[in-house]
Amino acid sequence: MVLLLFGPPGSGKGTQARFITSWLTIPAISTGEMLRSEIAAQTKLGRLAEEVMAGGGLVSDELVNQMLVQRLAQPDCAGGFLLDGYPRTVSQAEFLDSLLARQGFPPAKVVHLAVQRDGLIARMSARRECPVCGQIYNLIHQPPKQKGLCDRDSTVLIRRKDDHASIIRQRLKAFDEITNPVVDYYRGPQLHEIDGNRSSPEIFEDIKELLQQALAMVRSRTKRSATP
Ligand code: AMP
Repeated sequence: MVLLLFGPPGSGKGTQARFITSWLTIPAISTGEMLRSEIAAQTKLGRLAEEVMAGGGLVSDELVNQMLVQRLAQPDCAGGFLLDGYPRTVSQAEFLDSLLARQGFPPAKVVHLAVQRDGLIARMSARRECPVCGQIYNLIHQPPKQKGLCDRDSTVLIRRKDDHASIIRQRLKAFDEITNPVVDYYRGPQLHEIDGNRSSPEIFEDIKELLQQALAMVRSRTKRSATP
């Protein structure tokens, strides 16, 4: 199964990606995380992306598509994968669709986390993450047990450079102007809207139910085609 998690910055995609990936045992691929690793390693790609990301804009389609093709060629993606933060433009969506078709994957399932804008900036400003295990916290709704430290490995939590109010506003603007049309691109049977204005476990329950139905359909189709 190929799954796309779609929603504005701060809608909880990263948290849901973690839940889904440990449930379905498929890799979760976040283009944002990949780009941050490229910046940390100061690769050519990282240096090209750094300034754009610092301003809350979008990295070019060409760079992101190229990075994605390399990641999807890894053996762990052969049985399916989840994409968090990609596609972010209609052109990326078209690129992905033709890539999936060429590689024999069925059309992706798109889960759209729909959230109210009120409070989104406050929620994102309160976001902290563990630089080692990637666990995401929120100082208001889901604080760590010990102030400033990861529950899992006691690493000092960090705030993403682009999780500051002025940059968050730019990221939301980029989402509204460039990324939102991707929802219209996918509108139809493959698009599923989920109310993202609830607690993470509640949202995950809905996603699970949705995916269980999809998995059951795939299994029954496979069984039917295997019956002589
Ligand atoms: P995220 O971690 O998904 O919030 O992404 C952080 C930043 O990485 C975004 O604000 C963009 O600058 C960049 N980025 C991540 N994914 C993409 C993408 N698919 N296309 C263009 N830029 C991206």
